[in-house]
Amino acid sequence: MNIMITHIEKFSLAGYLMGKLADLNWKRRFLTQTPGDPKVGGQSRQVPGACWSRVRPTPAVEPKMRMWSEEVARDLDLDTREEEVLSGGTPIDGMDTYAQRYGGHQFGNWAGQLGDGRAITLGEVDTKSGVLELQLKGSGKTPYSRFADGKAVLRSSIREFLCSEAMFHLGIPTTRALSLVTTGEMVLRDIMYDGNSKLEPGAVVCRVAPSFIRFGSFQIHALRGDKETLEKLVNHTIKTHFNNHNVDNDESIILWCKEIAKSTAEMIAHWMRVGFVHGVMNTDNMSIHGLTIDYGPYGWLEDYDLNWTPNTTDSGRRRYRYGNQPEIGAWNIARFLESISPMMKDPEKLYDVLEYYVSSYESISESMWMDKIGISNPQDSDSNFITELNDLLQRSDTDMTIFFRELCHIKKPNIEKLKFAFYDFENIPAEEWNNWLEKWWLRVEASPDRETMLNSNPKYVLRNWMAQLAIDAAENENYKICEDLYQLLKNPYSEQKEFENDYYQKRPEWAKNRVGCSMLSCSS
Ligand code: AMP
Ligand code: MG
Repeated sequence: MNIMITHIEKFSLAGYLMGKLADLNWKRRFLTQTPGDPKVGGQSRQVPGACWSRVRPTPAVEPKMRMWSEEVARDLDLDTREEEVLSGGTPIDGMDTYAQRYGGHQFGNWAGQLGDGRAITLGEVDTKSGVLELQLKGSGKTPYSRFADGKAVLRSSIREFLCSEAMFHLGIPTTRALSLVTTGEMVLRDIMYDGNSKLEPGAVVCRVAPSFIRFGSFQIHALRGDKETLEKLVNHTIKTHFNNHNVDNDESIILWCKEIAKSTAEMIAHWMRVGFVHGVMNTDNMSIHGLTIDYGPYGWLEDYDLNWTPNTTDSGRRRYRYGNQPEIGAWNIARFLESISPMMKDPEKLYDVLEYYVSSYESISESMWMDKIGISNPQDSDSNFITELNDLLQRSDTDMTIFFRELCHIKKPNIEKLKFAFYDFENIPAEEWNNWLEKWWLRVEASPDRETMLNSNPKYVLRNWMAQLAIDAAENENYKICEDLYQLLKNPYSEQKEFENDYYQKRPEWAKNRVGCSMLSCSS
């Protein structure tokens, strides 16, 4: 009887609350609590002393809703798919649209003012689970567009929509995607920056997060010596998003920074767990909430190569390679701390936060890797298993996702059982592999914690070539693969046998050197 009543109440409550964009509880906290640009819209320009500029999105020529996240819509209590507004059409009452101003270190160099060059926030919405900001990506120029057009193409919008939703279901902190609308307009892009420009379909993704405040949001004020604006932004951030914190003294500032350091460490440890490479870990792409943000030339490890970076712009120095992500996280945290230092009486104390990032990363990462190999009662010496495994994986042209998934099911410590994970099984150091497996088998007493392993080692990730298949079809107006992948990646840890033949597979030959699969660029 009790169950019945709860069920009916929930049902009617949902029915009562769900509505249109205009019915949402719109707020303007960022706009009212931080200083902004007195001018509305206008040309690209420097906007000193501001955290934002009011700007109107550019309406789409012929908007068509192509992808929709029921789950994100439910979080917002939204049940209408308003393709016009969600692609830049006239904002509805309650929205107060703006672009955020921020700066950033790009590839290790201070780049000055960057800001939302092709992102426009529609507004903040109060929901039962907190404030959520809705932002359009690709809906036209803002004062921060510099020399670019403020648009986004279908290819990069599909990559953002699918990957951010896939990350969420992998249990990795991320911004979400509500919708993807094509604009009916063609956009000129030179994908590989080699003089071969081509017209591509334009699209707009509506992405959703508690906020899109980044490390670079603080840096721009600190590096310009604007302590007053910095303080206002910090106060807003704490009041709105970290209300268990305050900045009354050095100690409380440190506690707040430690929370940010820890969530950043946690996010990066997750990336390493699943073989995700962000590709552009510039400080303007580091969320203050420890969310994966700004999906650009990201990629997924196929063969286990610590040196791999998907971003061709970074192919020389490989600053953002898979194996360097934890260290770049520390570098970025250090830049964030520098930007907060003007608020400290004794800025030296901020070194504690950096150390805390390192120790947090180490302990989170260690326990995640123990989960991956099913050791449920780790001891210090167990870290050798990970070191040795890392070494073997690198020497063996191995598919990371398949290797760990097959390991979950292994019944005998014999490398033959994992054959499917290797690209060139004949040439792996089989004896060393068997030694490792036997030692591990003894350690787990022939009974690894399989349940934990299955929940730590996804069977399906958005492999680079899978996203490309979806894009190729969508560019021909066919969204079936997009939809299939979206559904598949909602349950990345479950077997879904019907998808095995298509997607539980190593990289196919055609994808080896294909642009969009092995090579990606920031052009999006
Ligand atoms: P990203 O590497 O995508 O994070 O972008 C770095 C900076 O370039 C940000 O300030 C973006 O807003 C800006 N940007 C990237 N693409 C465009 C574009 N098509 N139009 C305007 N600004 C852009
Ligand atoms: Mg960015």
